[in-house]
This record gives sequence, C-alpha cells and structure tokens, in this order.
Amino acid sequence: MHFNLLTLFPEMFPGPLGHSISGRALADGKWSFSATHIRDHAHDKHKTVDDTPFGGGAGMVMRADVIENALLSLPNRGRVIYMSPRGRVLTQKMAEELAATPTLTILCGRYEGVDQRVLDAHAIEEVSIGDYVLSGGEPAAMIVMDACIRLLAGVMGNDETVNEESFSNGLLEYPHYTRPAEWVDANGVQRNVPDVLRGGNHAEIAKWRLKQSEELTQLRRPDLLKKT
Ligand code: SAM
Repeated sequence: MHFNLLTLFPEMFPGPLGHSISGRALADGKWSFSATHIRDHAHDKHKTVDDTPFGGGAGMVMRADVIENALLSLPNRGRVIYMSPRGRVLTQKMAEELAATPTLTILCGRYEGVDQRVLDAHAIEEVSIGDYVLSGGEPAAMIVMDACIRLLAGVMGNDETVNEESFSNGLLEYPHYTRPAEWVDANGVQRNVPDVLRGGNHAEIAKWRLKQSEELTQLRRPDLLKKT
C-alpha cells in the first residue's frame, strides 16, 4: 500500500510509524509513502499557502489553488481523503476499506482548515478520528495509516490477532492475562488468572472469551451491539 501525504510538515513522516510493527513493515516494503510539501506548490515569491477567511473570523484558511497544485503533482492519487473533524468518523470497518486501497492520498490540514472549493472540485472525502480538535491533520493521518498498515497481509505476525481484536466482530475484545498465574498487587489483593484459561479446554476458553466480550461491550459500548 502506498500513502501520499499532502502536508506543510513533511518531516513529520514516518514519525512514530517508523518504529515497531509499522516500522518493520516499512523496511520490508509492505507499505511506502511520499510526503509532498504543500508550500512547494505555492506560486508567489513568498510561497503563500494560506489567507484570511472571506466573511471574517479568526485564523487562516489553506488556499484551494495551492492544494490543487500539490494534488495534481502526484503521479497516482488513488483514493483521496482530507483529515477533518467534520468528516465521517474512522471505524475499524472504514480502516479495512481503506487498507484495501492500493494508493491512499491524505490531505493534512492546518490553521482553520482548507478552502471548501478544493474539496468540492476533487470530491475529497472528509475523515475524522474523533470528536475533538487537533492542531493539525498529520497526527490524524498517522492514526489512519497505522490502522491500515496493521491490516496489510503479512504485517502482523499472526493474522488471527487482527481477526480477534476489538471491533473486528462488532464486539470489544475479552480481557488478557499472562504469567504469573497468581499475583498479589501492591495493596495485598490476591489476583489469580481465571481457572478456565488454565484448563486447556479450547471450546470452554472460546465460550468464556465470547461471554466476556459480550458483557464488556454491553457495559461499555452498548451502541456497538445496536449496530449489529
Ligand atoms: N476549524 C476546524 C474546525 O473547527 O472544524 C479545525 C481545524 S484544526 C485546528 C486544523 C486541522 O487539523 C484540520 O484541518 C484537520 O486537518 C486536522 N484535525 C483536527 N482535528 C481533527 C480530527 N478530529 N480528525 C481529523 N483531523 C483533524
């Protein structure tokens, strides 16, 4: 999978994605990226990328013509999204859909965002990572990228891990335990691993995990149950 980033801060990439699982996958060629500096596509001598909003108000707006120049400079745009708090909120399902795209172009906003006309002109989809406001689209793009990269074939050591994770079956994941099996916490409370997980009966373990997932989802995210 290839990611084109359109950004005012190309040096931010790959950033955290250059480490751990995504970092290894980058080194192995499972994904690649190019970070295009939007400012390189400004046409005046001051390399202006933003201007004051028509109608007044605080902040600056990124110019449609400059963004379009940056977009058109890409040899292959693939699917194009704009990171935006007004967008469709990223879900695991959307990550699966995006990860199936060979090339994804991500426009990262700054300031108050981008001139609406460039979004309209190129039918650019808006994608949000949640109901809060970041100061720029780059960290949001990295979240989209990370969610996609771990779904690419061969990136996770065990593909079952991905299938069992939260949201993949519409439920939150069951709780995990590892050694030591018996542990006393700092308050002196004995905390043992549930017996079923140590019994070796895989059918019972699967049943227990499903029940835990269902109870946890009911408690914390009943909205997910309504969606299925
Ligand atoms: N004025 C905008 C608003 O109120 O919707 C916020 C602009 S924000 C300061 C600057 C940029 O950060 C946005 O253009 C967008 O690219 C990115 N951004 C901020 N919050 C985001 C979120 N929740 N999801 C995706 N991108 C976000």
